[in-house]
Amino acid sequence: MPGWELIGEEERAAVNDVFDHGAVLYRYGWAEKRENIFRVDEFERVFAERMGVKHALAVSSGTGALIAALKAMGISRGDEVITQSHTFIATIEAIVEVGATPVITEIDASLNMDPADLEKKITKKTKAIIPVHMMGVSARMDEILKIARAHKIPVLEDNAQCCGGTYKKKKLGTLGDASITSFDFGKVLTTGEGGMIITNNEAIFRRAREYSDHGHELNPQFPRGEDTRSISGINLKMTELQGAIGLAQIKKMDYIIGRQRENKSRIKKALSDISTITFREVPNPEGDTGDSVIFSFSYRPETSAFMKLWMAKGFGTKNLPDAINWHFAGTWDHMLKHYRRYKGKDLSKVFAQSDDLLRRAVALPIFVNMPDEQIEKIVTAVHDCIRQM
Ligand SMILES: *Cc1c(COP(=O)(O)O)cnc(C)c1O
Repeated sequence: MPGWELIGEEERAAVNDVFDHGAVLYRYGWAEKRENIFRVDEFERVFAERMGVKHALAVSSGTGALIAALKAMGISRGDEVITQSHTFIATIEAIVEVGATPVITEIDASLNMDPADLEKKITKKTKAIIPVHMMGVSARMDEILKIARAHKIPVLEDNAQCCGGTYKKKKLGTLGDASITSFDFGKVLTTGEGGMIITNNEAIFRRAREYSDHGHELNPQFPRGEDTRSISGINLKMTELQGAIGLAQIKKMDYIIGRQRENKSRIKKALSDISTITFREVPNPEGDTGDSVIFSFSYRPETSAFMKLWMAKGFGTKNLPDAINWHFAGTWDHMLKHYRRYKGKDLSKVFAQSDDLLRRAVALPIFVNMPDEQIEKIVTAVHDCIRQM
């Protein structure tokens, strides 16, 4: 997913430019000192335009974006929020942080939300559904949206890992009522830390902006010091340095995704002759951002045997299996034990279907810069490992 691979002169120049025009590192105010250049504003405008939505709100992290979005959607104590078992831990943390109860679905062969399980987990208390587009691949949005609409439950897409991806030609992040993305150092675009909420719903946008800025309503009738407020908020504002870097990074988005897709398809194709592995199901292959090549073996011991040989050759993986503990709810007893539904249970059994799918999987990271020799090395090494198993 790596915007970090392309951090270079453009990002350096963007940061220097902040210092060359007044060095105002804060997103609001000091109009004269900053020569009227507002970079976070500009980043939001460019991002919204790029996504084709009315509103974009930049914040300090993807996690902050999730919290602000849930707050803005009116989620609070006693509400249930449904998300999937395969996600970065932050999705569940945000649900916990707003006081709601996380309800977690199994994943299917797409390694994203299993719509059949979603249907089963909806109750009268369900107030939001968060499908997560994990590792560059969209969730099954047709099925998920159909279920959500039938029950009139809003959808918040967690698009932290699939920014720039599409689903049936629609941009991911624009299918639900709102979405978030992340600009942390491992994501498609990076500002070091950072996040964005996008939506066409003005009420959600406004409440998220107020929440992320101490309740500030940005009332045009008053200077900031006399601004009005009606809700209690916190501070999740993005800085101008992040905004400046974001503006440089977004120009590279098409290139990043184009290269990754190309590299992914070359590797996948070269591995397609191996009969003992099955590739991850991709609901909408044209929309894939090419984050990783994921394949699985039929039985867990085969995956372990492959991993032993793979690591011995000096190669690594992306999350599966190396960081599975940060990406699978079946290992999150420390958070889930506080909820009756999960308390005292063996979570790997609660999410047995997900546990089986994720623990048989191997994810090879795809990079923007992958010279031919590197691709050949990877392909040869996978074949070698499988021959030796
Ligand atoms: C990275 C990530 C987040 C959180 O983003 P941060 O910017 O790191 O706080 C949320 N959800 C998913 C799926 C992520 O991968």
